[in-house]
Amino acid sequence: MYLSVRVDKEKCIGCKICITSCPEPNVFIFLPEQKLVEVNESRCKACGLCTTVCAKEALKIG
Ligand code: SF4
Ligand code: SF4
Repeated sequence: MYLSVRVDKEKCIGCKICITSCPEPNVFIFLPEQKLVEVNESRCKACGLCTTVCAKEALKIG
């Protein structure tokens, strides 16, 4: 099964801390109008780093 981080759009507040935590380039995409992030799942290595920094618990590996 292919694993990737997933964003809970109800919980994300668009603080962008996850973007700075991710060691892979261009995984997170910030959506300024919605004020949240989305994930390019094909680039995510499912390392889980971003899930540890999100204070809103908006990120899960699945
Ligand atoms: S750290 Fe969490 S709340 Fe902040 S932008 Fe990332 S997913 Fe959203
Ligand atoms: S799980 Fe790792 S590779 Fe995937 S978005 Fe989070 S920090 Fe980046």
